[in-house]
Amino acid sequence: MARPRIVIVGAGFGGMSAAHGLAGAEADVTVIDRRNYHLFQPLLYQVATAGLSPAQIASPIRAILRRARNERVILGRVNGVDKQRRVVRVQEREIPYDYLVIATGARHFYFGHDEWERVAPSLKKIDDATFIRRRILTAFELAEQAADAETRQRYLTFVVIGGGPTGVEMAGAIAELAHVALRHDFRTINPTDARVVLVEAGPRVLPAFPEALSEAALRSLERLHVEVQLGRAVSRCDEQGVVIGDQRLEAGTLIWAAGVMASSAARWLGVEPDRVGRVKVAPDLSLPDHPEIFVIGDTACVMDGKGQPLPGLAPVAKQQGAYVARLLRTKLAAAAPPSTFRYRDYGTLATIGRRAAVADFGWIRLHGTLAWLLWGLVHISFLIGFRNRLIVMLDWLWSYLTFQSGARLITGTEPP
Ligand SMILES: Cc1cc2nc3c(=O)[nH]c(=O)nc-3n(C[C@H](O)[C@H](O)[C@H](O)COP(=O)(O)OP(=O)(O)OC[C@H]3O[C@@H](n4cnc5c(N)ncnc54)[C@H](O)[C@@H]3O)c2cc1C
Repeated sequence: MARPRIVIVGAGFGGMSAAHGLAGAEADVTVIDRRNYHLFQPLLYQVATAGLSPAQIASPIRAILRRARNERVILGRVNGVDKQRRVVRVQEREIPYDYLVIATGARHFYFGHDEWERVAPSLKKIDDATFIRRRILTAFELAEQAADAETRQRYLTFVVIGGGPTGVEMAGAIAELAHVALRHDFRTINPTDARVVLVEAGPRVLPAFPEALSEAALRSLERLHVEVQLGRAVSRCDEQGVVIGDQRLEAGTLIWAAGVMASSAARWLGVEPDRVGRVKVAPDLSLPDHPEIFVIGDTACVMDGKGQPLPGLAPVAKQQGAYVARLLRTKLAAAAPPSTFRYRDYGTLATIGRRAAVADFGWIRLHGTLAWLLWGLVHISFLIGFRNRLIVMLDWLWSYLTFQSGARLITGTEPP
């Protein structure tokens, strides 16, 4: 009898976790991704601010799965699913499946202003990070050569839009780049004159964290000389700057960290998405009426015990991938399935620069250096899960602690 075919679309946190869980299973597993590498998104902002190099936060999918002899990898962009014929469309090809796991993540969202993307790039891919890095480093170079003070100040003004974890991390890292790493590198300008503005439409930064930790994050940002503007929405972004509320601010670099939208999976599956494009799934993460299709991670809308959708976080995607793998293994063995998916929240962390972070473990809340050390430990252990532990750890620590100049390269010419 032919072995069941399992297709996993997306090799991010959710897809890789499902693939790991199915290694050695009595099934032929195909992992499809449009990129040939798995990306550790939580440290993308470090690439964007020249703290780390791209290869330090990404690893080839084939290398990660090389020992799973029942799994193969296809590089390609999925653009549709035929639920009736049970095939996934990858460009011109069709890949048949008996079970399908969709884990294609999310992309940025400009609230109906797609034209802002060109001037206010966001951070989702390595190409975005190197593009933003180029913009930031080039801004200092242009400021060094600026003919007048007004132009110089515009180049030295950086606006980060969105006060969630990515915006806070970006703003803190740009401020540190200016105040520490670049401090002695220029002759005409003083990089510490850089103005870093973080704009958040809501009343506080890190709105998903408890209020006391938002306050702590705000104080840490201010210590780093980040100017935080709360309760003010951006109404225009262009080449020369931004309009915040009704005030114009001339700025050479804008970075978007304000909104995300799920991948196109709902369209592929022909189902009604939720407000941010996610596919509503059953408690076992399957598509209603299609027990052979599962949607996980940032692409899925899954409710927690209080009726709230689970957040778009790496641990959520990882736990869902592991759960689906367990469920599929029971199906392959014709055994009783596990009970429905339940997310275990071990805590949430966000960093603000190199010495401060906030950590919410529910039973204990931390901020400052201790939280930052924890943040570092968690990210190192997560990151090195797929590469040589010692080398990556030393490499990462060295770059991180010394502001190694190797990553401060201006590369490429075109937008991503
Ligand atoms: C800048 C940034 C910082 C973050 N920081 C944190 C953090 O500190 N802590 C935390 O817990 N979470 C963080 N997150 C969120 C976390 O990264 C996501 O929740 C997590 O990656 C979701 O996993 P996923 O498997 O659903 O999607 P992803 O990890 O995004 O993976 C999706 C995969 O699908 C592939 N794909 C997409 N479309 C297609 C297609 N059409 N065809 C083929 N392949 C496709 C992509 O190439 C990608 O490999 C951050 C996210 C970003 C962008």
